[in-house]
Amino acid sequence: MHSPTYILTVEESHDRGDGAVQWLSERFPTARILEASTLANAQALDEKESIDCVVLSARVEGFYTQVFRAPVVLLVDAADDIEDLPERFFHAVHRERSSDVETYLSIRAAMATACLRRELDESKQLLVGASRDAAVDVVTGLSTRDRFQARVSSAMKRDEAGALHGVLLVGLDGFKAINSSFGHDTGDALLKQVASRLSHCVRSADGIARWGSDEFAILLEDMPRTEDPVVVARRVIYALGRAFTGGEEDLYLTASVGIAVGPANGLEAETVLQHADAAMYRVKHAGGNDYQFYSEESDRGLAKRLVTESRLRVALKREEFFLVYQPQIDARDGTVVGVEALLRWNDPDNGVVSPLEFIPLLEETGLIVQVGEWVLRKACTQARAWQYAGLGHLQLSVNVSPRQFRQRALVDRVGVVLAETGFAPDRLELEVTESALMEDHRYAIEVLTNLRSLGAQIALDDFGTGYSSLVFLKDFPVNTLKIDRAFIRNIAESTEDRSICAAIVALAKALGLRVLAEGVEEPAQIEVLAEEGCHLVQGFLYARPMAADDLWTWLNTDIESRIAHPSAV
Ligand code: C2E
Ligand code: MG
Ligand code: MG
Repeated sequence: MHSPTYILTVEESHDRGDGAVQWLSERFPTARILEASTLANAQALDEKESIDCVVLSARVEGFYTQVFRAPVVLLVDAADDIEDLPERFFHAVHRERSSDVETYLSIRAAMATACLRRELDESKQLLVGASRDAAVDVVTGLSTRDRFQARVSSAMKRDEAGALHGVLLVGLDGFKAINSSFGHDTGDALLKQVASRLSHCVRSADGIARWGSDEFAILLEDMPRTEDPVVVARRVIYALGRAFTGGEEDLYLTASVGIAVGPANGLEAETVLQHADAAMYRVKHAGGNDYQFYSEESDRGLAKRLVTESRLRVALKREEFFLVYQPQIDARDGTVVGVEALLRWNDPDNGVVSPLEFIPLLEETGLIVQVGEWVLRKACTQARAWQYAGLGHLQLSVNVSPRQFRQRALVDRVGVVLAETGFAPDRLELEVTESALMEDHRYAIEVLTNLRSLGAQIALDDFGTGYSSLVFLKDFPVNTLKIDRAFIRNIAESTEDRSICAAIVALAKALGLRVLAEGVEEPAQIEVLAEEGCHLVQGFLYARPMAADDLWTWLNTDIESRIAHPSAV
């Protein structure tokens, strides 16, 4: 039997009346509908339960769409034409967060059923703005979306040789926050000002329309010059970037502009508009306040990224992550002093994926916080088992990403995992990068000190590649410097690289720290490192990262080869 789908709805204001729970339960009779009265409660529920879908008011800040763990977050805007709902939901989900396709499709299919009819009649009173066939948007006085589409369509159909039609979609960054903080009257007044400023950015013959709640569209029909969309986009960004006068305070917005040109980017109006929309989305995704042309290539890149992002959201639940361990060795006698836990993702479609490909995405989406804790728990549990089996001396290194490091709860979470797994804290080494420490060095010192008082050790990973200030280094309570592979690679041939390693070793010694060389692949590198006084090494020369069982076998069978290896002994 399938476990039921959990849908969580947040009714902070009464945007959608109080019928949301009833509405959802009618449509999803087998689902469990939970209701939270505040976003904070909703977040707490989402942390605790395995929620499949969160339904929020579109007026909440974009930030909130990111904090929920649920694979699907739907943004519902009561002000939007209810007839458009399924389509709008699609946009919302696609825009704000990628979705777990199955759950989403089932919700979308259910929404499209005839039940919507009755809802439609009831909800019509909620609508602000004009009906579907009205020509003018009541708030801004601009053309409506339908009318604009029709105009683009007729421009495209004229099919005059060489005629180019530029479409710009202008999204207001941060408008939803203004609407929710200052109220809808202020929001509407602002939209009017936006409309008026936009009208000054184009020729009178150009088309301009309200495209969505916080989006506008511009048509540069029969453009005299191909660079016109850029000129207009820049003008728009500048015009909307100036202060808006709204009530007591000045309000500020920025704009994200997506550009597509017909027929170069599509023969049908619909395609050109979709492409302008995709370009606008890319600008938003990159932080807004800019413009971009549609490009098939980056669109594909973005689509791929969104798919990966949505897969990563469910990877933890589906147990697709696993750990491998790479030994750290004292080259003088081949002793294994520790192991570094390294994350792998077994993507059902693409096989095992390197962390270099997916960790940045986990980092950006914030998922790294949950995944990082999973890594720590899993690795400590494994290392505890090794301790039982007689490998008590083995140290365990676990990577901590910058975002994890910024998380206030980090020290508590590490403490909890250590307590739960029973792993000896003084055997745990947390690897952090210099860049994570440099963001705010006072905070870094505080966190490192607290981690050290739990008993854990700290290593500075990829040392030499960041922007370490040596002045701060002496203040950071760290135990180990890990020389980045970049300096080891050519250490046998390059006197510069050798000098850098020698300097790092000298620095470590002066500060009383351990030093370990990463990425050792050749015996010649070991020799040089030994001459410079660095004996701790990690690299393919000894062992590649391997599954826990393989490591156990390796530890028990490969002693000879480890000792025999380097001439540095
Ligand atoms: P890192 O922490 O510096 O880990 C060392 C990386 O160097 C590993 O790559 C390892 O496989 C690779 N390596 C070790 N010896 C050699 C060698 O001799 N030659 C070469 N060419 N490579 C070697 P991996 O496993 O692909 O991980 C890459 C990075 O991803 C890690 O660099 C770390 O920054 C990050 N990472 C991996 N697992 C985690 C994790 O659980 N959490 C976080 N936050 N980051 C992780
Ligand atoms: Mg590391
Ligand atoms: Mg490293």
